[in-house]
Amino acid sequence: MYYPEPIAKLIDGFMKLPGIGPKTAARLAFFVLGMKEDDVLEIAKALVNAKRNLVYCSVCQNITDVNPCRICMDTSRDRSMICVVQDPKDLIAMEKTREYPGYYHVLHGAISPMDGIGPEDIRIAELLRRLEDEEVKELILATNPTIEGEATAMYISRLVKPFGIRVTRIAHGLPVGGDLEYADEVTISKALEGRREL
Ligand SMILES: [Zn+2]
Repeated sequence: MYYPEPIAKLIDGFMKLPGIGPKTAARLAFFVLGMKEDDVLEIAKALVNAKRNLVYCSVCQNITDVNPCRICMDTSRDRSMICVVQDPKDLIAMEKTREYPGYYHVLHGAISPMDGIGPEDIRIAELLRRLEDEEVKELILATNPTIEGEATAMYISRLVKPFGIRVTRIAHGLPVGGDLEYADEVTISKALEGRREL
């Protein structure tokens, strides 16, 4: 199937996104062609703006438009706790509960030897650096209840033990194999409440 070049380029672009194959990419491309020009421009601008204006927070590694991010700059939070999550979306899920008073650390992934992702590929070194400087008394490991999430939690727990910091893992009211971001707020609150020592 030969498309005019502008459409072919658009299809190629969509195919770079996760979970989008050639069929979906073509469907999206033709959908865009049918949209109002203003709406298309708005999406295009949002894409470029998000990429240009968002950075990783130099402290917690969350994505942010100000560095350090608003959470890290918030001095009313509890300095003694850091909650470790896999993705920015998990941080948002945790924040929505309004139950967690401390700070965060975003790993941007989990250890997964099957996918060739080792500890050096996620933001573990940045976490350890924080533990040296900050007055952290408890590290809450809120990685997903998947094989990768568990492996990551165990790995971090072993590394952090020598720092003399309490290491806890959130409870499994969370569905096993599930993602933190899809759990409802009550479930996350309960999981946080029922965290156990590692
Ligand atoms: Zn931050």
